[in-house]
Amino acid sequence: PQLLRLDGVTVRFGNSGRPALDAVDLDVAAHEIVCVLGPSGSGKSTLLRVVAGLQQADAGRVLLEGREQGGVPTHRRGVGLMFQDHQLFPQRDVAGNVAFGLRMRGSARADRERTVAGLLDLVGLPGAQRRAVASLSGGEQQRVALARALAPSPRLLMLDEPLGQLDRGLRERLVVELRRLFRELGTTVLAVTHDQGEAFALADRVVVMQDGRIAQTGTPLEVWQRP
Ligand code: ADP
Ligand code: ADP
Repeated sequence: PQLLRLDGVTVRFGNSGRPALDAVDLDVAAHEIVCVLGPSGSGKSTLLRVVAGLQQADAGRVLLEGREQGGVPTHRRGVGLMFQDHQLFPQRDVAGNVAFGLRMRGSARADRERTVAGLLDLVGLPGAQRRAVASLSGGEQQRVALARALAPSPRLLMLDEPLGQLDRGLRERLVVELRRLFRELGTTVLAVTHDQGEAFALADRVVVMQDGRIAQTGTPLEVWQRP
């Protein structure tokens, strides 16, 4: 079943020039890992923002599990977001960051603590609950941001240049871990990156964007073979 469907989604900034998204159609199946690849300015972030409800579409529809999302606010859409500048709360410790979305939902403290411990194990930071965010390396902070995004069990996890700030060696290792983790959890992922290697290593399917349109879509191998 399709988890996400974009149907002719157009987003225009100002009224001149080409739209940032130009009648985009896109389906993402449950449990699928889709990477949107494309140069800067091709519309990748706008695509994520429109799915999250942070940006309104001028035309077209965004459907999650078959339901139109028109005026549904971000926190009601069941989407998790992780941005490049992960924006952790510096004054909260690791657990306070990871538990943030759970507290917003009013889940009980004992449940939160269990969930946080499980997520920190998953992302490779077991026992880090009481560490200060500022004492963590870039890669560790990225893992905390990932745990925070996963905490409310989003039906769709969206990643915007998730490893962009990290050095290449670390990125190559993390991307393999991420893929294994998402596969294990059955997470449906829509990630955007301008890094071809990252997209190919992470994705079941790659969507190539150019000038606000989908120029190409296929498995990493298919996209690799007809560049
Ligand atoms: P990408 O994420 O691929 O770099 P974006 O989605 O950020 O691309 O941008 C797509 C196009 O929309 C670009 O031409 C960009 O300049 C334009 N754009 C994005 N956000 C805004 C905005 N808030 N106001 C005006 N133009 C914008
Ligand atoms: P507050 O004191 O801000 O009203 P809490 O009593 O929930 O809220 O949080 C107190 C401490 O417990 C904070 O250090 C916070 O980081 C930590 N904490 C909150 N949620 C969890 C959790 N799920 N697991 C572990 N520690 C948590």
